[in-house]
Amino acid sequence: MRHEIARRSGVGFELREGQTLTVYDPRGEQVADLLAYNRADIREVISSGRTLDYASKLFIGVGDPLYSNRSNVMLDIVSDSVGRHDFLLTPCSKDTFRIIYGDDAPHHGCFGNLERALAPWGVEPDMIPTAFNCFMNVSVDFETGALSVDPPRSKAGDHIAFVARMDLIIGLTACSALQSNNGSFKPIEYEISG
Ligand SMILES: [Zn+2]
Repeated sequence: MRHEIARRSGVGFELREGQTLTVYDPRGEQVADLLAYNRADIREVISSGRTLDYASKLFIGVGDPLYSNRSNVMLDIVSDSVGRHDFLLTPCSKDTFRIIYGDDAPHHGCFGNLERALAPWGVEPDMIPTAFNCFMNVSVDFETGALSVDPPRSKAGDHIAFVARMDLIIGLTACSALQSNNGSFKPIEYEISG
């Protein structure tokens, strides 16, 4: 059964070892931030640095494991109809909107949504790392190092799927940043199977 994550919101749920999580972009050009914590010890958390280091590349896709801060495999990407996701940038937050967008009354962003969604498991704000940003399209100019956040390559109905390699707590959002999703806020859908 597919669940919807409403625009500019987020959810938390448990995913057991061996289960598959499929994240869908139902309307296209939307981003979903994904976090994973070890169900048995929430101090073990998904790690961008370790994953990119061990993969020796910036763009992570099918066949790539997502590692924890303790170098254990948390999730494997098993299916992907888009082929471009980001693992560099942190979840958008009220400070993102204040600093980058100049908002006076900023939205709490994916960070605030993840904070609320994961609080029931004891996850505190300072325990929120760089998320795996499904469908987020970040380009790098390798001469200058400049980063640009471009419209996602995802079209309506595209997906990415992960298999859990340990019992996990997952945080997942429908992103709240205009830059990430080409200027409009949209829902995200997900399905758990197995
Ligand atoms: Zn966001």
